[in-house]
Amino acid sequence: MKLSWKQGLGVWAATTSCLLLAVWLRYYLTDNGFIKEPNQTYDYIVVGAGTSGCVLAAKLAASNSKVLVIEAGGEPPWYSWIPIVAPILQGSEQYDWRFRTVPQKFAAGALHGNQAFWPQGKMVGGSGQMNFLIHATGSPSDYDSWKVPGWDSHTMKTALDGLTCWTKGIVKPFVARPSFLLDGESEMCRAPVLAENSTSCSENAQHFQCPSAAVKLQRVNATEKPLLKAFLDAGRACGHSVSEMDRWSDTGSFMASHNTIDGKAGQRWSTYSSHLMPAMKRYSNLHVLTKSSVTKLVWRRNKVIGIQYLDADGRIKHVKAGKEILLSAGTIKTTQILQQSGIGPPHVLEPLDIPIKADLPVGENLQDHLQVPLFVELNASVSLNIVKMLHPRQFWNYMVHGKGALATSGIEGIATLTKKREDGKPSEPYGMLILFNMGSINADVYTSVANIKKEVNFDPTFMVEKQG
Ligand SMILES: Cc1cc2nc3c(=O)[nH]c(=O)nc-3n(C[C@H](O)[C@H](O)[C@H](O)COP(=O)(O)OP(=O)(O)OC[C@H]3O[C@@H](n4cnc5c(N)ncnc54)[C@H](O)[C@@H]3O)c2cc1C
Repeated sequence: MKLSWKQGLGVWAATTSCLLLAVWLRYYLTDNGFIKEPNQTYDYIVVGAGTSGCVLAAKLAASNSKVLVIEAGGEPPWYSWIPIVAPILQGSEQYDWRFRTVPQKFAAGALHGNQAFWPQGKMVGGSGQMNFLIHATGSPSDYDSWKVPGWDSHTMKTALDGLTCWTKGIVKPFVARPSFLLDGESEMCRAPVLAENSTSCSENAQHFQCPSAAVKLQRVNATEKPLLKAFLDAGRACGHSVSEMDRWSDTGSFMASHNTIDGKAGQRWSTYSSHLMPAMKRYSNLHVLTKSSVTKLVWRRNKVIGIQYLDADGRIKHVKAGKEILLSAGTIKTTQILQQSGIGPPHVLEPLDIPIKADLPVGENLQDHLQVPLFVELNASVSLNIVKMLHPRQFWNYMVHGKGALATSGIEGIATLTKKREDGKPSEPYGMLILFNMGSINADVYTSVANIKKEVNFDPTFMVEKQG
């Protein structure tokens, strides 16, 4: 049967609508665990259902305790699951806290009002529901500098190896069950074999995943990505090492990005999907209250016994915790809740007439990482752009197979840059290069989400792929 182009378009539109409806139904009909009114008392209250809150809540619920998760935002939008879509959530009234720095005197000159935008997720899943999905281990020297027992680089490396099933040489079971896995999850985690001394990014390493791992990773394949290949070649040409995977080293290297994407479904793999969602289905003792914003902790003498929050209608309410309250409301809001509860330095609390319960350096030592975008002109059509992304074939490939441009984060390569120290100590990382594979339209998206002034001149040196 031959269809006219109009009929073809109709069939395509109908198929796409059905598939979108199916995705919508899948996420919105599986919300068991969400509640409208909490009980008066729980064993544990987890404040913030972001990256860390989702894991904490799932682990606590597995121990049979009564757990309340209280989240200021609502459920994430369905499109947050499509990996490439993340940037559009930044700046959203509904899903981003839209934090801005105060105008800077000595920085942010290219930004409107000299103010940097600090996006932060406001939804179940938190920032993990809108981030760029790059999986990179932190710098060992950072962990060691904290000097907190159990958080040193050696212990963290072992824990992270377990979480992400990094195996080299042979496929092997974990020696110890990673404590991050949920009950009932497989202890045996299989990963593709990576040859011990392999330097090629193409070998065996496409979808670096475990069937039931807490962290699912999709590795970008350099043989399929000319830009990534050029990036790695450039690293090599500059004398840097090019590694197979995140080697957890302070020496710096260029590598293909591994992104937290469920490669089978082509979906964002946040801790909402890995931990909270399965726990909500499994445990009736886990309650999740959304659109409710915690304002402060409630004290009885010198003990915190509960929380005060504003419900969805702006009414002040309280819930008690028999055992503990866990603050996982993100860098800024956790600090704010603590300070509003009287925990913080006097020079901050006293001018606000907040009675001091504990004089602690809460809110100090804040560190930011700056991004400096460089848009590069390409002489071949090898980047992603909106025309390629919206091609019907991409929709079909994504909806039916979970593959294609929509199933990628757009991040293809990362490099850590280090500087040698003369005192013989290990080199110190000082920067990270990230290869974003995006086309011209995304330059506009990027400048708007990053608050960059229009007059900042990206043209003609820093522009994007020539079309046609
Ligand atoms: C745009 C963007 C891109 C990023 N890209 C990457 C990346 O590629 N790789 C990477 O490793 N990291 C990335 N990050 C950082 C990473 O996502 C965060 O470090 C991580 O998600 C922080 O987790 P968290 O649990 O501390 O906070 P969040 O995940 O931010 O969770 C905090 C939660 O608490 C809720 N909350 C706040 N205040 C209250 C309140 N008063 N009452 C109730 N609930 C409250 C918030 O709504 C939110 O859901 C990115 C972050 C952003 C914003």
